[in-house]
Amino acid sequence: MTQHAAEKESVSQKSLRARKARRDLIASLGGKCATCPRTENLHCDCIIPQGCAHHFMPWPQRVRFYWQEHLKGNLQLLCPRCHIRKTTLENHKARGVRSIPQSPDGI
Ligand SMILES: [Zn+2]
Repeated sequence: MTQHAAEKESVSQKSLRARKARRDLIASLGGKCATCPRTENLHCDCIIPQGCAHHFMPWPQRVRFYWQEHLKGNLQLLCPRCHIRKTTLENHKARGVRSIPQSPDGI
């Protein structure tokens, strides 16, 4: 368990920074779901979908991606319910068929 301590340290430092960047991002977006009054478990959502590549990025990279989208004015906060509804609508529009929503952006 101890041989990875140094590695763990730097990983947790990184994730602490990412967590702070995420907090700042959420605060900067108003700290509330864009379509309902919820303020908990908020997800970052690209208003104009930017594909799903960023869903597979490690957190620090992903937060940076979201900040870039935010600076472009293409980011909003959604609670899990509103996010699933939006994703379902997008899939519906894109394919013209009903489909299972993809797992939401768990930010
Ligand atoms: Zn909502």
